[in-house]
Amino acid sequence: MGIGQNIGTRVVRTARVLPFGDGVPVVPPLVQSVAFDHDTFADQDRVFAGERAGFVYGRYGTPTTGALEAALAELEGTATATCFTSGMAAINAFLATCDGPIVAQEDCYGATRAVLERRGSVTFVDPTDHGAVDAALTASQARVLYVEIISNPLLRVVDVSSLAEIAHAHSARLAIDASLATPALFAPVSLGADVVIHSLTKYINGHGDVMGGAVCGSRDLGNEMRERTILDGAYLPPHDAWLVIRGMRTLGLRMTRHCASALVVAGHLAEHPKVARVHYPGLAGHPQRDLACSQFDGRFGGMVSFALGADEVGAAGRFLDALELAASASTLGDLFTEVMHPATASHRRLAPAERARLGITEGFVRISVGIEDPADIVADLDHALSAV
Ligand code: PLP
Repeated sequence: MGIGQNIGTRVVRTARVLPFGDGVPVVPPLVQSVAFDHDTFADQDRVFAGERAGFVYGRYGTPTTGALEAALAELEGTATATCFTSGMAAINAFLATCDGPIVAQEDCYGATRAVLERRGSVTFVDPTDHGAVDAALTASQARVLYVEIISNPLLRVVDVSSLAEIAHAHSARLAIDASLATPALFAPVSLGADVVIHSLTKYINGHGDVMGGAVCGSRDLGNEMRERTILDGAYLPPHDAWLVIRGMRTLGLRMTRHCASALVVAGHLAEHPKVARVHYPGLAGHPQRDLACSQFDGRFGGMVSFALGADEVGAAGRFLDALELAASASTLGDLFTEVMHPATASHRRLAPAERARLGITEGFVRISVGIEDPADIVADLDHALSAV
């Protein structure tokens, strides 16, 4: 009997090779393996050295997460994409490679702003004020301009082509968090952006069952991001990547529905007597409506924010408690409608005076419009507004 023929050994070593034959699976296989065996020590050494394509260990890349990375790079038109365990892990990995000062959007996602404040050496600007962006880059000599394509939660839209031009004139890279627009609405790199960041937790997965993040960009950036997954360890595990791939396949359909329903919801809220102001890039009067229309091919995203006429936490709380269909949930971009109170959730860490200055007031509410029947979403909002 040769080595390994004993039953105790055979059961341990069984099913190590998938029996595909000539058939290619239409869904990428979930490869849960942490480590990868090579024919020779020399082969493995070459993979570790990056001289040969392949896999060695979970933090260095895995086939299933690799399939997601290849798909994201293809969708974004970038040389590489690297996946992390959350959007914040991706943002932190990117920021860890940015030396020197940064110019960043003042009304970015609360945790991003907190990370930038903790990092220091940052100038916050209104990215729709191009003169202010130019002046901040000149004064700080920053080499990174960091913005959100549709800001969370004020839903300002940034002009990617113009910001890319301004950033590049200062030898700075333009990094865009495109989580709220997704590749379904536009490709930032085609407009001049250098780095695209996603919270995969949001629309790209879209089912509320997995967290993830990605940094998409050049080959050099990809190498730096791979160093982060290897050394910091926040690499997206294969099963999570597999779920994101499954969710992402319906992104186009979902975004079409999210955008159409959000337009209905925004229009309805704009007429409601208990609503003081509505933020939605598709509404007449939104300062970047024309820009959004051209940049996103006639669509405006699935997020709507509004301020209650009663500008107090208590009123927002009564509104959230009265919702029957929508979830009161601190996330966005899922199939289901989700409503959130930024002042006590996403932007809780922001100094109250700064929140007020930006317009994230106590009665300010954010809606991620889901793919339910829009008439039901509107009825639920009306019902909850009647409780305010
Ligand atoms: N970027 C934006 C625009 C977000 O809204 C969020 C979360 O809400 C993040 C990044 C962080 O993503 P994650 O929750 O996956 O860490």
